[in-house]
Amino acid sequence: MGLIPESVIEEILLKADIESVVGRYVSLNRKGGNMWGLCPFHHEKTASFSVNPSKNIYKCFGCGKGGNAINFIMEIEHLSYPESIRFLGSLYGVEVPDAREEAGNEERREKTKRVKNLLTEAAKFYYKQFNDPEVGVPARKYAQERALDKQTLDHFGIGYSPDSWDALRNYLTEKGYTEDEMEGSGIFKRSEKTGKLFDLFRGRLMFPIFDSFGNIIAFGGRTLKKGELPKYINSPDSLVYNKQNHLYALNFAKKEQSKQLIVVEGYMDAIAMHKAGFRNTVAALGTSFTDSQLKTCARFCEEIVFFFDADGAGQKAAIRAIKMMLAYLSKLSGLKIRIKIAKVPDGKDPDEFIREKGADKFAEVVKNALYVEEYLLERAYNDNFDEGKGIDKGRYQDDICLYGSWMPDDIKRSTMANEAAKVLGANPGAVLNRMNSLAENEGARENLNNAREIARQKAEDLKNRNAVNEQPGYEEVDQAQEAEQPSEPVNTYTVVDTASDDEIKLFAYALSLGPVLADQKKVALEDVLRPDDFSGDSMKALVKSFLSVFDANKGVSYARMSDFFRRVTINGVPAEDVMYNECTKADSAPDINVKRDYYLGYLYKIRISRVNEIEESLISQRMYASTQEERSAAEEKLTKLSEYKEKMRKKMGEL
Ligand SMILES: [Zn+2]
Repeated sequence: MGLIPESVIEEILLKADIESVVGRYVSLNRKGGNMWGLCPFHHEKTASFSVNPSKNIYKCFGCGKGGNAINFIMEIEHLSYPESIRFLGSLYGVEVPDAREEAGNEERREKTKRVKNLLTEAAKFYYKQFNDPEVGVPARKYAQERALDKQTLDHFGIGYSPDSWDALRNYLTEKGYTEDEMEGSGIFKRSEKTGKLFDLFRGRLMFPIFDSFGNIIAFGGRTLKKGELPKYINSPDSLVYNKQNHLYALNFAKKEQSKQLIVVEGYMDAIAMHKAGFRNTVAALGTSFTDSQLKTCARFCEEIVFFFDADGAGQKAAIRAIKMMLAYLSKLSGLKIRIKIAKVPDGKDPDEFIREKGADKFAEVVKNALYVEEYLLERAYNDNFDEGKGIDKGRYQDDICLYGSWMPDDIKRSTMANEAAKVLGANPGAVLNRMNSLAENEGARENLNNAREIARQKAEDLKNRNAVNEQPGYEEVDQAQEAEQPSEPVNTYTVVDTASDDEIKLFAYALSLGPVLADQKKVALEDVLRPDDFSGDSMKALVKSFLSVFDANKGVSYARMSDFFRRVTINGVPAEDVMYNECTKADSAPDINVKRDYYLGYLYKIRISRVNEIEESLISQRMYASTQEERSAAEEKLTKLSEYKEKMRKKMGEL
């Protein structure tokens, strides 16, 4: 997908005013400067959803969602960033350049066939590299460490992508595949700098992903470099692949004709299980099990045994998947399928457990899997039990009544009520009544569910921010990326999100100054803020984004900036919440000169204090210098710094 020009984004934000965009979905009432309505993203009875026409943004004070018109469409229509730009473009008459032309049906079928052939060709290439005496060394070493024998490796078609940006591209070009076909396969990316295609998988152990007929439709790759993140990459949805519909190893598992399917999280687990003789195992690809995957499973079996990761994310995924499945099963009463949840002892993953304890012990783990109702009873208890305080009956009651209300089967629901009543010391009938009334009252049930979801989501959102590289759409609009090649998503590194009050104010005034910031008669070039003026990573990233989209005639609109705010935190708080208040204050300065003076005042103050920090370290360098040269070097730097500081002070005095 091509780059969307900055001017188009700005034009969309200008024409698609937030009031009319939101007004299509929410009825709004004016109160003070803002408009208010019922939030479309969470269930509520009193309006906590607000629209600020002057800043061109929305914000919900209940669930915390907020942003500009593009973000609103992303959330409400479940579209990606570029998709929602196109959506708004067509509504508001802004032309969005589209690189891809609508292909005819015949043409499309032909291309699909070519892309499938290309993927098979790629698998052969990876396989050859894996077995190459030199190139394949790291991959074979890893396979050996994981005790993967030749037979297993060949069975799953495991390969190796050499550590190169263009090895596969060159190979396929020689084989006569076009750039267009390569792009449609999902295993290449286009560099934003050079516009060239490059290999998505580099230096990774490669797992071909098959459809249930055994055609290769995608790849997963595991890094072989220590510490490289992410550990696993899957090729994205493409012309021939939709991850929501597929299960890894289903093409093998279905041959077993077993009445049971085992579902694990990763390919390594699935492969280890097949090797240990559990050939009825599949892996869910991607983060959560979907209803279309459930439907696929139901075609092949009567019982599904799930293994979820033992960590927090895995446990949360378990509850979400169970809710989805039970809702799905109650809608389709014809679908008779038993759901069980298995637990590997000591928080291990299946692969690890099998290697340590063997296949027989693992067979017991599968056999001991809990029926979904038993699992939910245990979860509600464990989640609300505290060593010191015992069971929190209030929260236990909320959870278990909610879970009970999900059960499509009356008898199972009453069994759950009986068990829960023992814990609560309550009448089983009363517990069952509560479950039934939640099941019948969708509104009340959603309220309870949402209250718990919101609490979880808020915590999750804060955790997910600050990894600016992995946000969809962000790459597309941030033209200030420095990496030579667009980097792969980085999802775990510690981002410093601290900022002082002065830094926050400085940025608010810079934003509020608009085009004045580029007017050298008002603000000297050296007095334009820089990422270096800020101490934390998230502020640095914001300033970088700000400068990259800055327009000398218009500055940057608040709505445009809010695209970036919603991706980071400042001092642990969503950036848009912090900046909203400060920008409102900055906007209310009586005139542009006053505003400019505030801006410069904060800038000088920050730069002086930065100089002070450097001075301190230089002074100690001078004190502990071992040679005369070191001493005079420090001395010289100190003199320069104090001149610089003097200049700052003088400028400050002139304000
Ligand atoms: Zn809300």
